[in-house]
Amino acid sequence: MEIEEQQQVWKKTFYLELPKVELHVHLNGSISSKTMRKLIAKKPDLKLYDQMIVIDKGKKRTLVDCFQIFQLIHQLTTSSEDILMVTKDVIKEFSDDGVKYLELRSTPRRENATGMTKKTYVESILEGIKQSKQKNLGIGASYLIAIYRRSGPLVAKETVKLAEEFFLSTKETVLGLDLSIHKYRTSKATEIKCQNTKMIKFYP
Ligand SMILES: [Zn+2]
Repeated sequence: MEIEEQQQVWKKTFYLELPKVELHVHLNGSISSKTMRKLIAKKPDLKLYDQMIVIDKGKKRTLVDCFQIFQLIHQLTTSSEDILMVTKDVIKEFSDDGVKYLELRSTPRRENATGMTKKTYVESILEGIKQSKQKNLGIGASYLIAIYRRSGPLVAKETVKLAEEFFLSTKETVLGLDLSIHKYRTSKATEIKCQNTKMIKFYP
């Protein structure tokens, strides 16, 4: 092996084994191609062709593709089982990358067709964290319940209530709230509602 190649291998191993923390992990933004294929296989009725939406390493995508993918992820993650699988896969993959602690963020969603509620959405993420912990993967994970600020003050208030409930009942797994989307595009009312809660752990 050439010296240059040896150095590349050494660097790769070094960065992989270096213990890391990830404090800003959006669940939907961290789904791997492998997990996407599993989700697509679970929903053949959607007739989604994986080459359209699965972007493998090295492939390029446009800015429009980047945002379209989130709509497709919503179509593919409609049940509590989907959210559980995604959470476990994301934690496992971060662990394989040498991450020792991560903070997940995700906006709770309801899906009438499958019976998933915002509460069961949160519970599925917590179950994924719990099951990963039981596997002794050597990674700790916690969760910030996200408020999508464009949804307005009523939805924000509902999420704050949900977060308070889990904040009190889980031992340091639900740490607080994440406020997503730029604040200047949010209504003033949402800001005020969020500022009034005492449990916010705010990351800009
Ligand atoms: Zn973020």
